[in-house]
Amino acid sequence: MKTIFKRIIDKEIDSEIIYEDDISLAFVDINAQAPIHILIIPKKEIPTLDDIKKEDKELIGHLLYVATKIAKIYKINNNGYRIICNCNDDGGQTVYHLHFHLLGGKKLSWNPT
Ligand code: AMP
Repeated sequence: MKTIFKRIIDKEIDSEIIYEDDISLAFVDINAQAPIHILIIPKKEIPTLDDIKKEDKELIGHLLYVATKIAKIYKINNNGYRIICNCNDDGGQTVYHLHFHLLGGKKLSWNPT
C-alpha cells in the first residue's frame, strides 16, 4: 500500500508543494510545529533513514541542499533553523517514507523527549 507521501508524489492527494525536481519534493507540513515547517522527501521510496544504501548518498545530500535553498527562500537562514529526520518508532517516525523536517521562523526550544 502507498504511503501518504507517495500519494502526494503521485499527485493523488493535494499538498502545498513549494519545490519539486526529478528526484525530490518539498511541501508544507499539514500539522506545522513552527511558523515554517516544510517536509523534504525523495521521490524514491525509501522507508527510513536506516534503509539508505551507498548509492543513496548523493540523494541524501541533495535533500539537505534543497532544505538549505528553501530556508533561504523563507529567509530563515540567518536567524537559523532546524532539520530533523525521525527514524523508526523510538525516533518518532509516523510516515514510512524518508523525510527531513525543516523548522524555523521562531526561536526553537530543545526538548526532544
Ligand atoms: P514523522 O512523524 O517524522 O514521520 O513526520 C510525519 C509528518 O508528516 C508529520 O509532521 C505530519 O504532520 C506530516 N504529514 C502527514 N500527512 C501529511 C500530509 N498529507 N501533508 C503534509 N504533511 C503531512
